[in-house]
Amino acid sequence: MGTQPIDEDKKKPRLGLEELGDLIRVPGANIFLTSTKKIFSWAEKSSLWPLTFGLACCAIEMMATFASRFDLDRFGVITRASPRQADLIIIAGTVTVKMAERIRKLYVQMPSPKWVIAAGSCAISGDHYRHIYSVVPGVDWVIPVDVYVAGCPPTPEAFMDGIIKLQEIISSEATNPHFNVAAIKSVIQDAPNEKPKKKQEIPKTGDYISPDELTSHASDLKDSGFDYLTYITAVDYPDTLDVIYEVRSIEKNEDRSWKVSLDHSNPALPSISSIFKGANWHEREAYDLFGVKFTDHPDPRRILLPEDWSGHPLRKDYAMDTSRLPYRPVRKEYEAWKEMLKKG
Ligand code: SF4
Repeated sequence: MGTQPIDEDKKKPRLGLEELGDLIRVPGANIFLTSTKKIFSWAEKSSLWPLTFGLACCAIEMMATFASRFDLDRFGVITRASPRQADLIIIAGTVTVKMAERIRKLYVQMPSPKWVIAAGSCAISGDHYRHIYSVVPGVDWVIPVDVYVAGCPPTPEAFMDGIIKLQEIISSEATNPHFNVAAIKSVIQDAPNEKPKKKQEIPKTGDYISPDELTSHASDLKDSGFDYLTYITAVDYPDTLDVIYEVRSIEKNEDRSWKVSLDHSNPALPSISSIFKGANWHEREAYDLFGVKFTDHPDPRRILLPEDWSGHPLRKDYAMDTSRLPYRPVRKEYEAWKEMLKKG
């Protein structure tokens, strides 16, 4: 049997009092000299209280890490249900544009000092969803991050490693959280902004009616028992923008669908929300994602994206990686906020 190599690091008490100052032994007493800064850092790193907050699949792994098998209590890590009592937020999951505002609000509500761990490739960079219109390409566009934990999802061991890393950063008083530093202008300039050159021929099928017939057609179907609107959606063909409707008769267990072909230059239709109440939301979605205008709609607002969003993401001419990139329009606000934090 060979002898085990001695790990010098293991002999060092990483979290012990020896790190905090000097013990001086004098006859009849022991004197311990340190600074309040060191004592506070020691207390902070030894009692991290993360917010119980998760966004997507990574959060499941985070929950497993918090559970009894891995026992984070031994690190002094005890989850809190309120941002007012938490000093750590672990961003575990995909950060969407709409959720970004809420994340920032929770972060602001946490008392200082506070720390952020970005856990998983979605929280770090947007990962697979990076170029989707609704996803923020990394939570460090929104709040400053102290530690990044890689993985999809990270294992509980990786989560624990991230927490230990954060403890080391706190105890060494080297906290230096950072925002994403990508040069926004170069991202916009370098990105392709061309419409696809070759138009693909897509065969069209189904029953088409003219825009003028839409209201009476919907009304007739409603009168004949098709009283449930299943959906309104659209398809962006190279030469037309087609809006597709489906209604259902619950009693007869039958569906009816029809389509209306529109010109890209003026995609407008009358609303059928006075006939089918559910059309109100479906039409808002068709407007939000495809830019179809419903002329007498009672509440013509976007439904999924912020009201100041530019363009309609499911249209073929919607260019990704341009100034319409997710979250870029409101990034300025965070730049200003970052400046404010710097000034204290
Ligand atoms: S990094 Fe992977 S596991 Fe985590 S939220 Fe994204 S897709 Fe899900």
